[in-house]
Amino acid sequence: MISKISENTWQIDEFGLVNAFLAEGEDKAALIDTGAGLSDIRSAVRKLTDKPLEVLLTHSHSDHSGGLYHFYDTPIHMRSEDEGLRLWGMRTDNEFRRMYVRTRGKERKEELDALIPEGNPDCTYFKYENIEDGMIIDLGSRALKCIHTPGHTDGSVSFLDEKNRLLFSGDTVNRSIILMREEDNSLKKVRVLHDTLLKIRNLSSSFDYLVIGHGSPRLEKSIISDYIEITEGLLSGSLSGEYEERGFRKGDVIRLGSAELWYRCDS
Ligand SMILES: [Zn+2]
Repeated sequence: MISKISENTWQIDEFGLVNAFLAEGEDKAALIDTGAGLSDIRSAVRKLTDKPLEVLLTHSHSDHSGGLYHFYDTPIHMRSEDEGLRLWGMRTDNEFRRMYVRTRGKERKEELDALIPEGNPDCTYFKYENIEDGMIIDLGSRALKCIHTPGHTDGSVSFLDEKNRLLFSGDTVNRSIILMREEDNSLKKVRVLHDTLLKIRNLSSSFDYLVIGHGSPRLEKSIISDYIEITEGLLSGSLSGEYEERGFRKGDVIRLGSAELWYRCDS
């Protein structure tokens, strides 16, 4: 489903599972993430714009990059730390897509199963240009500033659109952040996320909303303070979460205000 969320900006919602976004400038358009590869996202994009396209990945998890096979003739930008996720065994083919619709789609398993693409397109290997922190993607009278925001993955990037006052934050900041367990069970990733949240808070006079990778796309930026309170509390030892299993999430979870952080996650 396609919804306009701001001037020349659309949410491309892949069956309620994951969001991609199209941001059009005067000269070029940027597709931020590609969905899991369950839909013909290329045709959807081409109905909205005929301008030259670039693909920007917030991170390389397969639900955000599984549609890349539609764009191998298009410049793709990603942060290089996230290449390892794919090469170390993260599936990006139909085995992943089947697992994804079965674990995420609640009531509509058969309907979603029918969306698995033919030919088992795999997106493990693709050519990309590395995203530098602070790099500007100039779309013509509209720019996206690339901000390295590690935490959810080492190579996570957010895109600041100062003109439309939006921060596309992917899974870096959303309604339920997930951090995987460290081998030594430490809070290393919580510290990394904490630094990222401070970096985002420093930019917060430049945007009004976060635009996120799952669910309703606009998120109030006040959630950033709730997350900072959580990460500060965990790092100082004044707060701690409890182990929980809910849907596909398994790990320690802590909730505060509108924020929910899953850390030490095993899946
Ligand atoms: Zn993710």
